Amino acid sequence: MRVSAQPLSALTTMRVGGPAEEILTAHTREELTEQAIALWGRGDDWLLLGGGSNTVIADEGYPGPVLLVRTTGVALVEDPELPAGAVRLRIEAGHDWDALVAECVERGWAGIEALSGIPGLVGAAPVQNIGAYGQELSEVLHSIEFLDAATFESRRMLASELELGYRDSVIKQGLEGVVLSIDVVLADAAVVASEAGPEPLSEPIRFAQLASALGVELGARVPLGTVRDTVLRLRAAKGMVLDESDYDTWSAGSFFTNPIVTERFARGLPENAPRFPVVDQEAAPAVTTFEELEAGQPLRLPAPARERRVKLSAAWLIEQSGVPKGYRLPGSGASVSTKHTLAITNRGAASAADVGELARFIVQRVQQEFGLVLVPEPNLYGIEV
Ligand SMILES: Cc1cc2nc3c(=O)[nH]c(=O)nc-3n(C[C@H](O)[C@H](O)[C@H](O)COP(=O)(O)OP(=O)(O)OC[C@H]3O[C@@H](n4cnc5c(N)ncnc54)[C@H](O)[C@@H]3O)c2cc1C
Repeated sequence: MRVSAQPLSALTTMRVGGPAEEILTAHTREELTEQAIALWGRGDDWLLLGGGSNTVIADEGYPGPVLLVRTTGVALVEDPELPAGAVRLRIEAGHDWDALVAECVERGWAGIEALSGIPGLVGAAPVQNIGAYGQELSEVLHSIEFLDAATFESRRMLASELELGYRDSVIKQGLEGVVLSIDVVLADAAVVASEAGPEPLSEPIRFAQLASALGVELGARVPLGTVRDTVLRLRAAKGMVLDESDYDTWSAGSFFTNPIVTERFARGLPENAPRFPVVDQEAAPAVTTFEELEAGQPLRLPAPARERRVKLSAAWLIEQSGVPKGYRLPGSGASVSTKHTLAITNRGAASAADVGELARFIVQRVQQEFGLVLVPEPNLYGIEV
């Protein structure tokens, strides 16, 4: 196997990972398409990498080629179906996500301001439907341009076809292909006069901690720039804004997703365990049309309502299972962030093995204490948790 000179640790925010067989870079959409098709043509596994902020790679490296997405650009899309006061943008997959947010806030376009400070590139954003502080990409995503590994053709997929859920999508579930660009629809924000001049307003604030930091009620609209600055401040205090000099940010962000469990299961947890409602959980009502009945088709009975579910706080479960902030296994180069129990961090010289060992320890502790198995959020290659 040929081996890249550059280890993958240099290309991921956890800063672990050995070499790849080969590292390729696509700077234009044409290069991205051609290189992806050529790699699929070879028939071996290969890895697409954006900013590497949701990817953890083993010390042995990746046993195939790695293709880096480095296409950039934002363009306005003319769309006669857009509602008044909305803009549609097309952003290339390799564009930096936070640079996009900053530009939109600057231009007075609302809808992604609470997603400020999330590391990584635009093409990966729909893969796990990024979300934070009360906003999710799914709320503004119009469509993606998707190069399908099954056909080698690119096609437009509407957001409704992507099965976007909490840190989830059809792509994360295994639909193989490359996101070439994404289209989002944002609001050309309402403007309010202030001492500093006219200020465009955010979408209504929906996250209690953000509302409290802003000193407003839930549902209030606040100048876009203030939301961005406040989110960045809140995130930095949790080690969730990349900072080379702060090991708490040498991570993949939240290492585990917040578990979604039935209300019945949650009743067995301590009363003070935080729980959040899960939206969209009603079973769809069954409908049989008169035409179908006349045609002799059987009556469709209503599907039994799914048991109601709630989302738990993985950070709380970890802490309550006896793993505090800053926790480190003896001799390990990895530790739980000193600012947030949900992040596993590299303290400067961690190996991927250290990260995996700590992740397994946390899963085991939470399972022993609460009887549920935490699921890692990042994409792990060659690492078993
Ligand atoms: C400090 C920190 C804070 C974070 N905070 C948040 C947060 O608040 N909310 C949140 O949702 N996430 C958060 N994350 C996770 C991460 O930033 C996001 O998931 C981000 O979208 C990943 O982008 P990336 O380009 O770095 O992805 P990568 O890690 O490069 O890739 C992630 C996955 O997507 C695939 N992929 C990448 N590009 C493409 C493409 N063009 N087409 C198809 N597949 C592709 C990769 O193969 C891989 O499987 C955080 C991470 C860190 C390090």
